[in-house]
Amino acid sequence: MDRTLAADLARLPDLLDATRRAAADALAGLEARPVVPPPGKPHEPEPLPEHGTGTEAALAAFQERWEPRLSASAGPRYLGFVTGGATPAALAGDWLTAAHDQNSNSAFDGAGQDLERETVGWLRALFHLSEAHSGTFVSGATMSNTTGLAIAREWLGERLGVSPAEDGVAALGRVRVLSGAPHSSIAKALSVLGLGRGSLVPVPTLPGREAVDPAALDRALADTPGPAVVVANAGTVNTVDFDDLPAIAALRDRHDFWLHTDAAFGAFAALSPDHAHLADGIDASDSLCVDLHKWLNVPYDSAVQFTRRRDLQARVFQNAAAYLGPLGDHPDLVHLTPENSHRLRALAAWFTLRAYGRQGHREIVERDIACARALGERLSGDPRFRLLAPVRLNVVCFTLAEDPAPARLAALREAVGAEVFVTPTVYAGTPALRAAFSNWRTTQADVRRAAEALGAAAREIA
Ligand SMILES: *Cc1c(COP(=O)(O)O)cnc(C)c1O
Repeated sequence: MDRTLAADLARLPDLLDATRRAAADALAGLEARPVVPPPGKPHEPEPLPEHGTGTEAALAAFQERWEPRLSASAGPRYLGFVTGGATPAALAGDWLTAAHDQNSNSAFDGAGQDLERETVGWLRALFHLSEAHSGTFVSGATMSNTTGLAIAREWLGERLGVSPAEDGVAALGRVRVLSGAPHSSIAKALSVLGLGRGSLVPVPTLPGREAVDPAALDRALADTPGPAVVVANAGTVNTVDFDDLPAIAALRDRHDFWLHTDAAFGAFAALSPDHAHLADGIDASDSLCVDLHKWLNVPYDSAVQFTRRRDLQARVFQNAAAYLGPLGDHPDLVHLTPENSHRLRALAAWFTLRAYGRQGHREIVERDIACARALGERLSGDPRFRLLAPVRLNVVCFTLAEDPAPARLAALREAVGAEVFVTPTVYAGTPALRAAFSNWRTTQADVRRAAEALGAAAREIA
């Protein structure tokens, strides 16, 4: 064994302790650190070490060169994109995932996939989904959407008497994927799947909304020859708008389509009795995307893909090999997702659900919603700001009341950068900012700090 490696092995418990201390220090500093450090000058890449100096020296080098440049995205005032943190239990689960280093994809060594199936069952209960949905873990909502639309593609083949998985996507002819305000990852998925970004057919949304107009969708489906795919959106990133899912599902009486729902973070509305109606109807989806590294607050990367047609999923993703055995009625995970080998990704979700249960996660969701509403109220009470949409769930979409030019919004973001992080967008043609609440640590004290920082920045750039 390499001498440095052998020395590390001999003192592994000490090294893990040192790493634990480094992690605890980093987490203890989340409140005080700049939420996003000012961009410094980029480091010159160092050459590959010929001989290493061990874990302790690597840790010191990381803490010196890289850690100061990392953002406090695990903390309570990183409100950009839709960003979750990691609950204590989720972090513990993630550490043990690496420690056990399982490749949990088959029944040969089945505890990992049994644990994943138990966790999927808990998630199904959390989101009020019926037993008809099976689920698999993937790396994020983009991969969940891609997997769901791959199953949709195979369903189109079934309707037309061909199998895209066997014969290629050309056997389908022109495919149409109808959606009101789809997330950008839908177009990426269609590109990956060979259906093409051009297969996306935009359907008008309701006036002043990001939710699809069901009557317009009805008409668009009537104009579509043959079976189609509808992507319903349950929680858009700009304004957290929800399509009327029951109304869309009811269109199946008249039209032939696969219903894929992107509920990346919107599915978590189901945890709040006051907001659960927003996600009503997600169970009717043929495939459903839910992100876990957002509002479940597990570390990157984690999402779940639910579907009612596991048979079609296995047709797409089966990985036939002499040593893997037949598919059977309960295909191993290796036959269900784009990955073959994968980490025991479910363990962090298992830990946080085991540790806090439905009520613990409900509290996080409801507190984040209350924070979003409070920020919305503070900004609408400040004449320098204007809300562009009501706060429906956990996102505040706002802009400067006067002259909301992109350069002024950029200056505003720069002025608040150390205190709060929000991301730019354009909503209904107006340059805007979004503050998204999905971290388990965020409290009303953070809302006050964020509002004060935004107010001060708006004065500064006036
Ligand atoms: C975040 C998000 C995605 C993409 O998720 P990743 O985890 O970044 O892959 C897709 N759809 C919606 C609605 C999202 O909010």
